[in-house]
Amino acid sequence: METFLYHLLEQELAGKRQRRIERLTRQSHLPEGKTLSTFDQKRLPLRVRRMLPQLCRGELIDRAENILIFGLPGTGKTHLAAALGHEWIAANRSVLFVPTYKLVSRLLRAKRDYELEHELRRLDRFHVVILDDIGYVQQSREEMEVLFTFLAERYERRSVVITSNLVFSEWNQIFKDPLTTAAAIDRVVHHSLIVEFGSDITSYRAEEATRRNREKGEPDEVTGQ
Ligand code: ADP
Ligand code: MG
Repeated sequence: METFLYHLLEQELAGKRQRRIERLTRQSHLPEGKTLSTFDQKRLPLRVRRMLPQLCRGELIDRAENILIFGLPGTGKTHLAAALGHEWIAANRSVLFVPTYKLVSRLLRAKRDYELEHELRRLDRFHVVILDDIGYVQQSREEMEVLFTFLAERYERRSVVITSNLVFSEWNQIFKDPLTTAAAIDRVVHHSLIVEFGSDITSYRAEEATRRNREKGEPDEVTGQ
């Protein structure tokens, strides 16, 4: 009887956990299928590959640390960020995945309606916000200001993950004036892990296309072989 009750309880708890993960996944807007199991880890810098199990556990989130992922287009920045997001949800943390331009327009709208504070508080409920493609912001002064406010607001309290194909020296394209750029970089870098997909890592999209063409017996688009 006791073991029966024990199993019942265990099932109940497992069900509860499953439903929580499903709810967190729905709310996260993470791209489906971009998980660690579909991610080729050999493409990660060795240092990061070694750290991966530790990163997935999510303790860095409890310490409000950030992850900054840099690399050329197609090197796997978004996939890696999303894969970590899925892992963190499994580790019971709440995650929001959002293209930067979308977040910015959402914040702008809120500001115009005098609801910026409210919107920031709503975003605060997420342990991690993954800002995908910070380089693609349309940069009016107002847009850059709300983005800066968002980052400053989370600083040392909540984690952000940022993907970008702009290296720091190009971030003045995002934040316009040098002081704001320096202040933004300062805040996101302070407690952060930087992952760089080096220039030796070619675009995964391009590689895939080459492989498909080879399989079809067609010449490589780039090399013609
Ligand atoms: P980025 O954000 O750097 O432009 P993505 O993450 O969008 O690149 O990757 C481009 C495509 O290649 C996506 O379909 C992604 O799933 C795939 N991809 C990239 N890196 C890997 C990898 N290491 N393993 C498996 N698929 C990958
Ligand atoms: Mg991307």
